[in-house]
Amino acid sequence: MATLLFHNIIFGPVQSRRLGVSLGVNLLPAHGKWCNFDCIYCECGWNADHRNDRRLPTREQVSEALQEKLQYMQQAGALPDAITFSGNGEPTLHPQFAGIIDDVIALRNRLAPLAKTCVLSNATNLHNDAVFHALQKIDKPILKLDSAIESSVRRINQPQGDYSIARIIGQMQRFEGKFTLQTLFLRGVFHGEKFDNSTTGEIEEWLNTVQLVRPREIMLYTIHRDTPAQSLQKLAKEELRAIAQKIAAINTWGASVQISG
Ligand code: SF4
Repeated sequence: MATLLFHNIIFGPVQSRRLGVSLGVNLLPAHGKWCNFDCIYCECGWNADHRNDRRLPTREQVSEALQEKLQYMQQAGALPDAITFSGNGEPTLHPQFAGIIDDVIALRNRLAPLAKTCVLSNATNLHNDAVFHALQKIDKPILKLDSAIESSVRRINQPQGDYSIARIIGQMQRFEGKFTLQTLFLRGVFHGEKFDNSTTGEIEEWLNTVQLVRPREIMLYTIHRDTPAQSLQKLAKEELRAIAQKIAAINTWGASVQISG
């Protein structure tokens, strides 16, 4: 297993198939993972592997680090296509998330006006009004839903503490379609139990949920790096394409669909 952590507040830029040249922002500890999920495929590893570091960057540190990096990129004539909050866990857990979003948008407007702001989130904090309203200001809120069946979410994402899929779906509906739904498909064996979030039953439930939340964009992907759980299998690109065809059959609202295999 060779999972990885991001050791700086600003990382990259990386060439992303989905977002172009993307500059990363890590609001989580530099040497630890902090998430209220513990996904069996998480590229950062297990939560339990990184309990030693709980220090979060301050709002001021994030602003200073991003300003410095954008100024450097501006002088080099190589500004990013996207500024993306991801990193070592769930970015909306940062207590100053809303203020940081305001700062980052102001910096983007001043130094890299063509860059899109993006947040990768597991959608568990949408009930927090400050988080919800901050995500409304973002060009591309990307919200995870790996299954519409709660028992599968519990197996794949291992939510820590209180979790209700009905509540998550209700919160996603508040976006009125102005978000990207992101689903990772995989199969395998975990703790001796087989699972597969691409079975006919899973896809039927998932498509029903897609129709309820009507995202303007849907990203289908699968594992492509080392994972903390062993015995996980990625889906073939043809399988992701077959799911995309099923979306096409119900997609009356014109969502765009991206596949990243
Ligand atoms: S939500 Fe993201 S950061 Fe959190 S455990 Fe899952 S993959 Fe890792």
